[in-house]
Amino acid sequence: MINAKLTAKSHPHHQTIVNISNKVACGGTELIIIGGPCTVESTEQMEIVAQKLSAAPIQALRGGAYKPRTSPYAFQGMGEEGLEILAGVRSRYSIPVVTEVMSISQIELVAAHADMLQVGSRNMQNYDLLKALGQAGKPILLKRGLAATIEEFVMAAEYILSHGNPDVVLCERGIRSFDNYTRNVLDLGAVAALKQIIHLPVIVDPSHAVGKRELIAPVAKAAIACGADGLIIECHPEPEKSVSDARQALSLEDMVDLVHSLKPVAVAVGRSIYEL
Ligand code: PEP
Ligand code: MN
Repeated sequence: MINAKLTAKSHPHHQTIVNISNKVACGGTELIIIGGPCTVESTEQMEIVAQKLSAAPIQALRGGAYKPRTSPYAFQGMGEEGLEILAGVRSRYSIPVVTEVMSISQIELVAAHADMLQVGSRNMQNYDLLKALGQAGKPILLKRGLAATIEEFVMAAEYILSHGNPDVVLCERGIRSFDNYTRNVLDLGAVAALKQIIHLPVIVDPSHAVGKRELIAPVAKAAIACGADGLIIECHPEPEKSVSDARQALSLEDMVDLVHSLKPVAVAVGRSIYEL
């Protein structure tokens, strides 16, 4: 039994809808599909992404400006310049943007440029950051820790809610296991369980879960079929040239095809894909 106080459902149909912008919400009948590169690399890159994806239909763009990289020698992101690029496409295409915040000191700046703040897996148990995000004034996308139990995941969400922010979306992105053929193991059982236990929306990141572009479409469909409220998927104008996570990046064409192929799956489980 998970000791969830603020996130637990009070009745079986209890479901919170998190507004990402005045047009886009997460947790209702309509699914949210978030697409974009792992990392913001240039204005040109994000312009092409926004142009091709805004009609996909996808409902929000992603792109990291502050990147939690395994190696300190790997590219760490464009920082404030990346945030400005995101804010530019957000206003030109009237599409909300989601980007990661890695530390308390970045919250104000990231919140000024983005519609939703992502807490990456490596920070899921950074409790001071979670507490501070309670006052961020923006919805939070909380990714499951690399080896976090479902209870730890729920408790991380409780930190944000109990510090004043009710707008939290959980994201299953795969957990570590013994097999390294896929990058992680996508825990769809956790998605089904979370949908029964808590009233917050739950989305799935198939990209970081499988780590291989050719496996993303089938697991994305499975995620929708088992009740996820949406997906966050990495894609890039030139996938092989992505500065990070190239192996899992879809081309923009494949991203558009994937969204279309999700429609019948969505309908089969009583959901739909919203056209902006
Ligand atoms: C990302 O979304 O690019 C990312 C780093 O994800 P995660 O925190 O799930 O590894
Ligand atoms: Mn990535």
